[in-house]
Amino acid sequence: MTERRRLIAGNWKMNGLLADGVRRAAALAARARDALADGERKLPDIAICPPATILGAVGKAIGGSPIALGAQDCHAEDKGARTGDIAAAMLAELSCRYVIVGHSERRAGHGETDAVVRAKAEAAHRAGLIAVVCVGESAGERKAGKHLDVIARQIEASLPPGVAAANTVVAYEPVWAIGTGLNATAADIAAAHRHLRLRLSAFSRDGADIRVLYGGSANARNAAEILAVPGVDGCLVGGASLDVDAFWAMVLAASS
Ligand code: PEP
Repeated sequence: MTERRRLIAGNWKMNGLLADGVRRAAALAARARDALADGERKLPDIAICPPATILGAVGKAIGGSPIALGAQDCHAEDKGARTGDIAAAMLAELSCRYVIVGHSERRAGHGETDAVVRAKAEAAHRAGLIAVVCVGESAGERKAGKHLDVIARQIEASLPPGVAAANTVVAYEPVWAIGTGLNATAADIAAAHRHLRLRLSAFSRDGADIRVLYGGSANARNAAEILAVPGVDGCLVGGASLDVDAFWAMVLAASS
């Protein structure tokens, strides 16, 4: 097993017109460059996932900094009659390194099944991107005590064969914690991550090395506690990633 580098990834969702997004990205890039020049801390991997419309401009704003670019979704196919969709190769051409697939907002709002998510992850891999595959139980599933079964099923059905630490990151995001201000407890997060690690190890030879992030109302105040939970390799951050100070504080919480 190699040491898993922490990753702090910001999912801006459908927020950010051009000027706003470029300003935020440039501010983060400046902080990252200063931190590197300072040399005092070892930064974690950092990614920001802006809306598709500003990927190119945000990519330029973070160019030369240690911040990587990510997208929020891709289509499962490489090209063709798919009006409004974006192929993974198009994201790679814009210098994306990551693409989120299977976010609960797409599973719920766009009817994306595990099979669709898996096909998208495969498309991401074909394009040389790292797929950030999201799994997580609903409030009802947790209440019914089915959460561990649900995330095990999602992981097995959403990951394509050939997943490896170099091409896949898993994000555990309990749906009821996303954008609600509710966090899973440290014990709940630890149990879910332990379960996912076991499933990943059964699924892939690289299972011990694939990073597993936590997402769901993670912010500057609770990041240190979440990152201290065994098995948590970083955070996928929604709301707090729109605030430069908050996001950067989370990056520093993950740095060593
Ligand atoms: C997300 O949407 O991936 C997320 C974790 O959102 P938030 O941090 O706002 O809960």
